[in-house]
Amino acid sequence: MTSDGSGDIWVVTEQRDGRTKAPSIALIGKARKLAGERQSRLTAVCLSQVVEDAAQLAAYGADRVYLLDGPVPDDWNDDAYVKELVDLARREKPDVILATSGSLSSSVIPRMAVALDTGVSPNCISLDFDHQSRMLVQTRPAFGGSLMANVVFPNRRPQIATVRPHAFKKGDPDPSRQGEMIRVDFDRQAVSAKTKLLNVVKDLSGKVRLDEAEVVVCGGRGLGKAENFQMVAELAEVLGAALGTSRPPVDDGWVPYAHQVGQTGKIVSPRLYIACGVAGAPQHLAGMQTSEIIVAINEDPRAPIFEVATYGMVGDLFKIVPLLTKKLREARG
Ligand SMILES: Cc1cc2nc3c(=O)[nH]c(=O)nc-3n(C[C@H](O)[C@H](O)[C@H](O)COP(=O)(O)OP(=O)(O)OC[C@H]3O[C@@H](n4cnc5c(N)ncnc54)[C@H](O)[C@@H]3O)c2cc1C
Repeated sequence: MTSDGSGDIWVVTEQRDGRTKAPSIALIGKARKLAGERQSRLTAVCLSQVVEDAAQLAAYGADRVYLLDGPVPDDWNDDAYVKELVDLARREKPDVILATSGSLSSSVIPRMAVALDTGVSPNCISLDFDHQSRMLVQTRPAFGGSLMANVVFPNRRPQIATVRPHAFKKGDPDPSRQGEMIRVDFDRQAVSAKTKLLNVVKDLSGKVRLDEAEVVVCGGRGLGKAENFQMVAELAEVLGAALGTSRPPVDDGWVPYAHQVGQTGKIVSPRLYIACGVAGAPQHLAGMQTSEIIVAINEDPRAPIFEVATYGMVGDLFKIVPLLTKKLREARG
C-alpha cells in the first residue's frame, strides 16, 4: 500500500434515494478481495455527500469512503461529476477504477477515461490480478458473446472497468470494520455544463427493474401476440422477477423497448433467467448468457437457447408457463 494513493483500487458507487445499490455493494466485496491479494487500499467513491449507508461501505470492505459534493438530483450534471472525479483521480493516481454497468457509469466513466488518457473495459464479468505483471485481467464477452476476451492495460493507468450487475455475489458485512469518511468539496460554478436537466420522471410502476433484478422472466416471439405476454408477466409476478423480452416483440410493438434484453437492449446477469419462446440468437445471448441459472422453455429441441440453458423444457410454453405459475403460487401459499 502506498501513502500517496497510487496503487489504490477505487469503486465508484451508485446510490438511489441516499442508499447504495446492491450491485455496487457486491462490487465492493469483490474489490476487497482484489485489494487484499496485493495489499492495496480500497476506496469507495460516492457521487453525493448524502449517503445514509456510507458506514456500510466500510463494513463491506472499503478502507476509505469519499463523499463527493456532487450535483443534487434536481441539478443533475454529468459534466460536474466527470470534472470532480478526474480532478480527484489526477491528485490520487489510483491504479484501478471500477464501477457497475448502468446509465450513470455509461455516461460518466468513459468520459473520465478519455480525460485521464486511458481506456475502459465495459461490462466485465470477471476480474483478477495477474500476480506477475500486477495487471488487472478484465474478462468480458466479445463478438456478440461468442467468445470471452481477457483485457489488460499494459501501458495506461488507471485501469478502468465496468462490471455487469450481479456478476459478483454480495459478501457478508463486517460491522467491526471502520473506514475513513472523507468529504470532498467542489466548486460547481467552475464547470460549464453542456447538458441541462429539464425534468425527472420517476418510475412509479412498482415493477422490478430489469437491470437490477435477481430473477428475469423473458418472453420471445414464441408468445405469438401482445396479449400473451400477460402469461409471462404473471409468472414474473409470482417470482418477484423483472419482465424481459427479445427484440421481435419490441419491433412489433407488443412490449416497450425498456424490456429488451440483448446486444441492442439491456445486458442482464441475474441469478435466474427463464426464457419462454426465445430461440437464443447470438444477439439475445449477448445480453443474458452470463446469468447464473438459465431455464429455457421451447418446443424446438434444436433451439440454440438449449446450448446455454442449465435446465431445458421441450414443450408448448402455453401449457408449461401457466402450470409453472400455478405450482409456484401453490408452493408460496
Ligand atoms: C444488429 C442486430 C441486433 C439485434 N439485437 C437484438 C437484441 O438486443 N435482442 C434480441 O433478442 N434480439 C436481437 N436481434 C434479433 C435476433 O437476431 C433474433 O432475431 C431475435 O433474438 C429472435 O427473437 P426470438 O427468439 O424471440 O424469436 P424467434 O427467432 O422467432 O424464436 C421464437 C422461438 O419460440 C419458439 N416457440 C414458438 N412457439 C412456441 C410454443 N408454443 N412453445 C414453446 N416455444 C415456442 C420457437 O421454437 C422459436 O425457437 C438483433 C439482430 C440484429 C441483426
